[in-house]
Amino acid sequence: MSAPANDPIAAIATAPGRGGIGVIRISGPDLTGLISQLFGRELAARHAYFLPFCDSKGEPIDEGIAIYFRAPNSYTGEDVLELQGHGGPAVLKRILDRCLQVGVPMRMRHAEPGEFTQRAFLNNRLDLAQAEAVADLIDASSEAAARSAMASLSGSFSTQVNNLADQIIHLRMLVEATLDFPEEEIEFLEKYQARETLGGIIGDMAELVRQARQGMILREGLHVVLAGQPNVGKSSLLNALAGDDIAIVTPIAGTTRDKVTQQIHIEGVPIHIVDTAGLRDTDDTVESIGIARSWAEIAKANVIIHLQDARTPNDELDAGITQRLPQRTPVLEVFNKIDLLDEAALKALIARPAAGGNTASSHEVSRILISAVHETGLDVLRSKLLQIAGWNPGAESPWLARERHLEALQKAAQHLLNAKDHAAQNDRVLDLFAEELRLAHESLWSITGQFSSDDLLGEIFSNFCIGK
Ligand code: GDP
Ligand code: ZN
Repeated sequence: MSAPANDPIAAIATAPGRGGIGVIRISGPDLTGLISQLFGRELAARHAYFLPFCDSKGEPIDEGIAIYFRAPNSYTGEDVLELQGHGGPAVLKRILDRCLQVGVPMRMRHAEPGEFTQRAFLNNRLDLAQAEAVADLIDASSEAAARSAMASLSGSFSTQVNNLADQIIHLRMLVEATLDFPEEEIEFLEKYQARETLGGIIGDMAELVRQARQGMILREGLHVVLAGQPNVGKSSLLNALAGDDIAIVTPIAGTTRDKVTQQIHIEGVPIHIVDTAGLRDTDDTVESIGIARSWAEIAKANVIIHLQDARTPNDELDAGITQRLPQRTPVLEVFNKIDLLDEAALKALIARPAAGGNTASSHEVSRILISAVHETGLDVLRSKLLQIAGWNPGAESPWLARERHLEALQKAAQHLLNAKDHAAQNDRVLDLFAEELRLAHESLWSITGQFSSDDLLGEIFSNFCIGK
């Protein structure tokens, strides 16, 4: 972030719109002057005062609660003033403007997104993973995600990262010390049981990677695309899964021309489902645009549900769709409308091999029989989606993780494995061993921000909401 790091900042911290109360938050190195100008008196730290908030002429704009937090005992680690007024946009803006006006001589300005939390990070009130957890807690879309975000915020992820980093630091110290005495290098690995120690660290790291993957699924969710011919029941399935009517269902083929996205939760895991225009050849320009978009969505999916009419499984058009599906993406071949099949037809369908298995394609294919209208088979579909996401039902997901965290952990794990290789060679490779440990360490520290670039910080904090 390019904004000066020290100017006092102010923002409305509550969500836009109307509410019972609204909060304005101000942070700066020293807010005592501002307080005495705003209220004509001092405020004791951490006491709630019921006061009028007045304009420049002394006319009350609102009245409410003022709380002063003296540095360093505040969210940002600086002086913080919180004003709780009535939660209307106009009144809050007037209070904010008044604060900014009084703050002109101290160069007070409007806060940028995430700037309060960024200051908390820069003043060591939070590490980077905890700062990210603040945003994730606010953005959490399920109770499970909120619980895990809170666990990250209170430091349970950071603690594990730091424990691993400490073990690596210890090993690094021993190696670096030995590097200064080349005659001891050969014995180093034996003398300090370096291989065993490293093996232990690698094991712990693998467990952390596993947990981070769970945490990431919980945060990012799964992008699922419903693909298939017109009229096979895509919109009906979306409605059945979502539990309310958001897509238009009609018996006329080709109704869903634009995509409809719905977010549902399965065991707290967010699943983003896109209903696409039915895939078929058409001369209708609008429809063909919809179909082109469908293919674009399909290309981005984590999982594709290839929905088909159970009465005409893998017909020529479906075979065509199967051919065009991306090779790397798992496909659920779902046969809908089984309520319309008689018993013999149902048995025949169950006995049929999956189409994907017959082709040369390498993607994973599973088959599921459902009736969207009668809501049969949906639980199997739901648990299959979770399984594909890599979700481990019942396995605790102690904290929320981001892709960035998982990548850093995997990178660190790779460097540890490289170090292990060097150690296995048992010749004079101690400097390579040391270098890999250093890289693993660096990668771990990028998670908590002890080692991170300004670009990364800017990217992380600019994605916050204002006032946080
Ligand atoms: P889409 O074009 O693939 O989105 O298909 P729709 O969801 O609009 O459904 C097309 C028609 O099939 C509608 O008349 C639905 O009521 C009907 N339909 C969808 N699912 C089922 C099902 O499981 N059983 C039966 N009998 N009809 C279904
Ligand atoms: Zn539809």
